[in-house]
Amino acid sequence: MKIAFIGLGNMGGGMAANLVKAGHDVRAFDLSESAVAKAQQAGCATFDSATEAVQGVDAVVSMLPNGQIVKGVYTSEVIGHAPTGAILLDCSTIDVATAREVIAAAEGAGYDMVDAPVSGGIAAANGGTLTFMVGGTDAAFGRAKPILEAMGKAVIHAGAAGNGQAAKICNNMLLGIHMIGTCEAFAMAQKLGLDAQTFYDISSVSSGQCWSMTSYCPVPGVGPATPADNDYEGGFATALMLKDLRLAMEAAESSGAATPMGARATSIYEDFAGAGHGGLDFSAIIKIL
Ligand code: NAD
Repeated sequence: MKIAFIGLGNMGGGMAANLVKAGHDVRAFDLSESAVAKAQQAGCATFDSATEAVQGVDAVVSMLPNGQIVKGVYTSEVIGHAPTGAILLDCSTIDVATAREVIAAAEGAGYDMVDAPVSGGIAAANGGTLTFMVGGTDAAFGRAKPILEAMGKAVIHAGAAGNGQAAKICNNMLLGIHMIGTCEAFAMAQKLGLDAQTFYDISSVSSGQCWSMTSYCPVPGVGPATPADNDYEGGFATALMLKDLRLAMEAAESSGAATPMGARATSIYEDFAGAGHGGLDFSAIIKIL
């Protein structure tokens, strides 16, 4: 298949390389020259603009920083430039309202389009083990699935347009909340004289068990190897967790959902990022508890 790939950053670079490995003819574009050069090394054909990259393609995949950029790229550089028979897949994490607006504009111009944000970080993007949560019609999902399968281990249809983004921000709001809760519990256990490993051994098989504890333990030397064992470097940056929590708070406000814990998690991560820790893994929040 001829696939245009727009946005070859930390995530998109590895994803485009996996499409090449799966035998696709990938036509890449990014504003960053170094990102374009890496994509070329990975076997992509490269272009000077998105409008050139999308000429004659069967599909367009994008992995961009935010909703405003996604809207700008699709409305000015993809819609009306890619053939209408092309399936459009936006894998960026953006707000639900913009995702729905862009998909409606694409559908109005005759395209099938899905929102397909991912769970999994840079290692999963490079390794082709992302999880995709997909919003769009059954027909659009059916067309998008084999393309996404070349970049991930799971591809799940979340419902209508925008529901991929809804699933992503609800999941990440829950993750932010239970990471802070896990950190609080470890910090209090220590103050009460309870050894972290002993608390882990008990809680990981008791009702407090959660992913933040057993798969991503914030305490160094306890549980499986995690960013905590690497001084909180690598992993899922606090700044990205904060981005997702802010998107969740926008969605809560526009939908009238009550999210008191999500709001508290957002303000705790805002303080942590504001203190200069935006680059640390989000489990480093334990440092301030
Ligand atoms: P990044 O900043 O590394 O990459 C974004 C790329 O988009 C950059 O190379 C930038 O030059 C390019 N770009 C910006 N505007 C452009 C335009 N108009 N035309 C073409 N290219 C343009 O970001 P990333 O870490 O790869 O994240 C991309 C998306 O994936 C974000 O929405 C992010 O929230 C989401 N995400 C990231 C992670 C992660 O761990 N990094 C995990 C899950 C989801």
